[in-house]
Amino acid sequence: MERSVGILGSTGSIGVNALKVIERHNGHFSVKYLSAHSNAEKLVEQALDFQPEVVAIADENSAKTISEGLAQTSIKVLTGREGLLELASRNDVDICLNALVGSAGMEPTVRALEAGVDLALSNKESLVMAGGLIRRIMDETGASLFPVDSEHSAIWQCLLGEEVSNVRRLILTGSGGPFRTKPMNEFYDITVDEALNHPKWEMGKKITIDSATLMNKGLEVIEAHWLFGLNKEQIDIVIHPQSIIHSMVEFIDGSVKGQMGQPDMKIPIQFALTYPDRLEAEWEDFDPVNISGLTFEKPDREKFPSISLAYEALSRGGTATAALNVANDNSVRLFLDGKIGFTQIAEINEAALSEHKWIADPDLKDLLELEQWGKSFVELEMKESLTV
Ligand code: NDP
Ligand code: MG
Repeated sequence: MERSVGILGSTGSIGVNALKVIERHNGHFSVKYLSAHSNAEKLVEQALDFQPEVVAIADENSAKTISEGLAQTSIKVLTGREGLLELASRNDVDICLNALVGSAGMEPTVRALEAGVDLALSNKESLVMAGGLIRRIMDETGASLFPVDSEHSAIWQCLLGEEVSNVRRLILTGSGGPFRTKPMNEFYDITVDEALNHPKWEMGKKITIDSATLMNKGLEVIEAHWLFGLNKEQIDIVIHPQSIIHSMVEFIDGSVKGQMGQPDMKIPIQFALTYPDRLEAEWEDFDPVNISGLTFEKPDREKFPSISLAYEALSRGGTATAALNVANDNSVRLFLDGKIGFTQIAEINEAALSEHKWIADPDLKDLLELEQWGKSFVELEMKESLTV
C-alpha cells in the first residue's frame, strides 16, 4: 500500500537522501509536503519532481522564487515559521520525516506528534530539548517515533523482538571525527575547513561540527535515553573509526547484538519510512572481506569535553539538556561564521549549562523561551571573550 510522507527540511542532507529513497521505491510512497528554510531553487526543483500538495519556505524573502517557480502547478505555497508549523500539524500523512536542523525542529516534532502522526525523527535536537514533553504527547496520542539517526536505528533494530528490561547497556559507536588523533595542544587553532572535513559521513554543516567536537555523540546519548527509556549509566560510547558497526546492545545474559552496514544514511532513512517492512534496495555493497579491520577505543573526554557535558546535563534533568542544546546551536553557528574558536564551543556550552534558569518540568513555552535565551547568552559570551 502506498504510504504518504511529509518531509520537513527536504533540501538538507537527510531530506535529499530521503527523496532518493522515495524515488527508488516508486509506487510505495507519495509525497504530501516538502519544506526548506531558504533554498528556494532546490525546493522548486523537488516540488516539480515529486508533486507534493503543498510546500513551505520558512524564509519569507525566498517566497517569491517559490511562487514563480510553481506558478504553473497547483502546488500550494506556505511561508514563514507559521507555514512550517502548519505543515507539521497536518494529520493527513502516514508519516512525517523531521529532517530540520537544530532547536528549530523541536516545535514541529511536538506538532506532528500532537496531531497523532508517526514521526521518522532525524532531528535529534527535538528529543534533547523536549524529551519529557515528547514522551507525554506520544502517550496521549499514541503516535510513534522511528529513529533515523544511524546509531539509534541500529539499537532499534537490535531491540526488535526483545524486552527493554533485558538490556544491560547500549553501546553507541562513533567514528571519532576528524580530530581523533590530533594532539590536544593543537585544538585551539582548528579551522572551520578542517572541522568540516569529516572522515566518514557527508552531512549538513551543523552536525559535521558536532561530530568534530563529539557533541554529536553527547546529544545521541540524550536521544537514546528518551527513545529507549534507559538511564545514563546504561548508555556507553565507544569510538569505532571504520563506522561499520552502527551501535550495539548488550543484554543481561552477556549476549551482544550489533547492527552493521556501510555508512550510508539512506539505509536508516529507508527503514524508518518502511517499518515494519523492508524493501529491496541496492545502496552500497557490504563486503566484509574488504573491511581491513574493526577497531574500538575509549573516547578521550579531556580532548572532547562535550561528552561529559552531555552526561552531566542528563543527570541534572529538566531544562539542563535543552540549555546545552540551544547553547550548542548558537556556539556552532558562531564558529562556522568565524567568530569564535573551536575550543570555545564547549566552553560557552558549559557556561550556558551552569548559568541557565533551571526548570524541572518545562512546557513548550518554557522551552521556546529558553531557545531565545540561548541565542542572546551565547552572543554575550562571545562579546565578553573578545574584550578580555
Ligand atoms: P542540513 O543543514 O543539511 O539540512 C537542514 C534542513 O532544514 C534544510 O532543508 C534546511 O533548509 C532546513 N532548515 C534549517 N534551518 C531551518 C529553520 N530555522 N527553519 C526551517 N527550516 C530550516 O542538515 P542535515 O540534513 O545534515 O541534518 C538534519 C538533522 O538530522 C539534524 O538534526 C542532524 O543532527 C540529523 N542527522 C543528520 C545526519 C546526516 O547524515 N546529515 C545523520 C544523523 C542525524 P535550507 O536547505 O533552505 O537551508
Ligand atoms: Mg548519528
